[in-house]
Amino acid sequence: MTAVAPWIAAQRTQLLAQRGHAWLLQGPSGLGQYPLALELVRAWLCDAPTAQGACGQCASCHGIDVRAHADLCVLMPETQMLALGWPLPEKAQGEIEDKKRKASQEIRVDAMRDAVEFAQRTSGRGRGKAVLVFPAERMNHVTANALLKTLEEPPGDVRFVLATEAAHELLPTIRSRCLGHTMAWPRPDEARDWLVGQGLAADAAAALLRAAGGRPDDALALHQAGRSPQAWSLIPKAMARGDVSALADLHPAQAVDALQKLCHDLLSRSVGAPPRYFAVADLPQAPGVGPLTRWSRALMQEARTADHPFNAGLMLEALVAQARQTLNSRH
Ligand SMILES: [Zn+2]
Repeated sequence: MTAVAPWIAAQRTQLLAQRGHAWLLQGPSGLGQYPLALELVRAWLCDAPTAQGACGQCASCHGIDVRAHADLCVLMPETQMLALGWPLPEKAQGEIEDKKRKASQEIRVDAMRDAVEFAQRTSGRGRGKAVLVFPAERMNHVTANALLKTLEEPPGDVRFVLATEAAHELLPTIRSRCLGHTMAWPRPDEARDWLVGQGLAADAAAALLRAAGGRPDDALALHQAGRSPQAWSLIPKAMARGDVSALADLHPAQAVDALQKLCHDLLSRSVGAPPRYFAVADLPQAPGVGPLTRWSRALMQEARTADHPFNAGLMLEALVAQARQTLNSRH
């Protein structure tokens, strides 16, 4: 298990100093909502917690480390549980292994039903119980309303932490039932040092941190997905040439994200502001604000369908053609 990042540790201390039976951790992706949520429940359930968090030694801490704790209920989409190494309920595991259905990308009604039941039960270890929901925006109307009922009338010894990367998508009634915490941004040097601690070279850490807009978890995810800073830096000029190969190893949703970042930087340049995601030297000459604005709107549309494209290859080609046309227009 890796040590928690210093800016997460600071927020942990800050939140543990306050009372509250339900926290909502919010902010853009990549700032560590999930690690902070996990640190909070570890501290709540720990046998010997300090003001700085869980002890890391007791049976409770061990239970969480091995992903088996009777008083912790983790409520996530199945895809997320699998990605983060949490075991699925036996029935769900069986259905997915037998290929009866795919792992769900939403928090399922069944899982919410289990969580509500869990909240009613007596705590097994006598230190109360905790429910961790992430990403909370993946609840549909039915599951969100079921959770709301439990938040409104919490059965005594259960505490909740909801973590989200899209708080605006949550029911306002859920938001108002929680204490809100907006995730703090790390300082750039802090984030870079942390990435170096995760095994990145210093210059790669700086470049990927820029590609991720300063969000360390996103930068680490880029690294783990095998994305090289060099390949990233070549994207802008490749787009001006209409070279599809620069995006070839990206899923359409990632390609749209990369192009939105490029569009953002060119818009910044056209009003004399510094770029955020790419180095100045890697950017082509910016076209006018008109074509960039139209491109930005078109990319927003593309982003809605990019998760489930009709044909990924065709979509990439269309995206690159559109980028090329924009980057070579003058008005
Ligand atoms: Zn402990």
